[in-house]
Amino acid sequence: MLFEISPPNINNLNSNNMQTGKIGVTSENLFPIIKKFLYSDHDIFLREIVSNAVDATQKLRTLASKGEFKGDITDAKVKVKLDTEAKTITISDNGIGMTAEEIEKYINQIAFSGANEFLEKYKTDAHAIIGHFGLGFYSSFMVSEKVEIITKSYKEDSKAVKWSCTGSPEFTLDETEKEEVGTDIVMYISEEEKGFLDESKIRGILDKYCSFLPVPVVFGKKKEWKDGKQVDTEEDDQINETAPAWTKAPADLKDEDYKNFYRKLYPMADEPLFNIHLNVDYPFNLTGILYFPKIKNNFEVQKNKIQLYSNQVFVTDSVEGIVPEFLTLLHGVLDSPDIPLNVSRSYLQSDSNVKKISSHINKKVADRLAQIFKDSREDFEKKWDDLKIFIEYGMLTEEKFYDRAISFFMFKNIDSKYFTFEEYEKLIKESQTDKNKNLVHIYATNAVEQYTFVEAAKNKGYDVLLLDDVLAPHLIQKFEQKYPEKRFVRVDSDVVENLVQKEDSAKNDLSWEQKEELSPIFQAVCPENKDNYFIVDFQNLGENGSPIVITRSEFMRRMKDMSQTQGGMNMYGDLPESLNLVVNMNHPLVKKVLDNKDKKLGAKLEKLVAEITAKKAEVEELEKTQKELKKEEIPQAETEKLADLNKELSKLEETKRESLTAFGKENNSGKTDG
Ligand code: ADP
Repeated sequence: MLFEISPPNINNLNSNNMQTGKIGVTSENLFPIIKKFLYSDHDIFLREIVSNAVDATQKLRTLASKGEFKGDITDAKVKVKLDTEAKTITISDNGIGMTAEEIEKYINQIAFSGANEFLEKYKTDAHAIIGHFGLGFYSSFMVSEKVEIITKSYKEDSKAVKWSCTGSPEFTLDETEKEEVGTDIVMYISEEEKGFLDESKIRGILDKYCSFLPVPVVFGKKKEWKDGKQVDTEEDDQINETAPAWTKAPADLKDEDYKNFYRKLYPMADEPLFNIHLNVDYPFNLTGILYFPKIKNNFEVQKNKIQLYSNQVFVTDSVEGIVPEFLTLLHGVLDSPDIPLNVSRSYLQSDSNVKKISSHINKKVADRLAQIFKDSREDFEKKWDDLKIFIEYGMLTEEKFYDRAISFFMFKNIDSKYFTFEEYEKLIKESQTDKNKNLVHIYATNAVEQYTFVEAAKNKGYDVLLLDDVLAPHLIQKFEQKYPEKRFVRVDSDVVENLVQKEDSAKNDLSWEQKEELSPIFQAVCPENKDNYFIVDFQNLGENGSPIVITRSEFMRRMKDMSQTQGGMNMYGDLPESLNLVVNMNHPLVKKVLDNKDKKLGAKLEKLVAEITAKKAEVEELEKTQKELKKEEIPQAETEKLADLNKELSKLEETKRESLTAFGKENNSGKTDG
């Protein structure tokens, strides 16, 4: 049966003023689900019961302000009591209370339709079930074998009533004695859940969910030190701050108040850079304070620190998917009654209010940054190093943010001067436009390691940027995609003469044979290492250029850098490093090496070359005749002869290379002096 509503007839309470009945809804289905599936989230029962008590208190305040309730509410509090002997947790409030009819209406009959279907669908998602049906109160059965409601309505001449239920659909409802208006919820904690009968556990849950509830919540007594130990005082220990900073008007808060609030939220964190106080009431309700934290390079750990509240009740501190990815780097609090309290994450993410909130925050954050940049560029520059990861992250992941941020994004050069995108373009246009009209941005990632390259570039009149954070390679990629006429080259990716190519380089001064001989000689001077290998390259860098320069290919290096921040591209990360050993063909040293080689290896080498040439001719000849025949027509002896000749040829070449390498090694010290 889908519904089994058997409402007790409240108006005809029987002679002993006692009645029994069955709770509405499909309770046969509900209770096992509450007990079974909600187990993983059982902490939230406390949040549910305490926030009901807070709601009831606020409702009575509202009534009092309208003059509909005459009693005294100045001291209204929610009290949480733990009785380890009776094994109960009791939440008491001085709120509006309930009449027997209201218990019937709000507790016994939970009106909903299509229940079975829904329960089936969401049976593994506790939050969805609780939220959807307003089952907040029933979450108490996750931890209790029996729950009692002792309540007296604020309405005049109301009789106090006591509702009691053991978790089966049967309940009892009695008249009872209660002096004050309000409600006590008494939870008899079950044997399996007796872990909750622990003061520090309860305190922990209250701290998490109830720290900023708008009505005082007290638990136990304030402690003081006496004779070397902590003892209870007379004073109730209030666990919450009822008017946290975000609920106040920005005009009433000083810088120090914002900082204090931050310290309260994150006692271990460094001071924030600045904050944004959100205060929106149209088209949705949203308050909150967001802080820009100091972000270190390992920003993953700093993500998801924003706490989400709904009317000061803590909902979650995992805002992933709720606010734009880059905003998860911000810290602080967001509070909106439009954020559904008890729904699943996937529901939250698709909720249209949540989406609106998210794009609003996006805009506000960009506004605030633009404003700081405009009002105080100096201050902005000072904070840039701490801010940049955040801004770069936003530019990479949110196109809308990119469009705003490009006006305040800062390039910092190696001399710690800051430029906007536009300013920098002007600065380098004259000297760093190459022959294809590309604007070449030269950058360093490490001022110390790349010092000589940086100096060389500066001497040539170039400006060098410092792009040293983990997101820089990605951002460079993005810039190059967006602006095809802008190029980025790292200062050590090529010899300085080639960074900005002005005209086609002069033609080579060395013959192919000379290069072939020089290659193993220079290869021999490269350090042998399993992590990197060298490719020898010859270029004309002018007589006054360096004789040898080691460079790293821009492409290879970028791929490697990016594989460090992206999981997938590890192929490049694992490759050994290929470095270029650029030999300056026009440097006198190279000429000297060639002369030396002739002196030392002259006759021997000449003989080898002659032999190689002769062998090559023989091979070619044989290959030619064989080519004219079909494969099966070639005599076996001929095939073998060709193979032998080839073997001899490679042996000769090997010998030549070996002698050149040996020569290179011997002359190592002399050659690398320059
Ligand atoms: P929700 O709070 O989502 O409406 P609950 O199951 O938690 O769902 O509570 C159902 C109703 O019971 C509340 O809307 C309220 O009218 C009533 N109620 C619950 N707790 C109290 C309380 N402490 N004082 C007065 N009324 C309460």
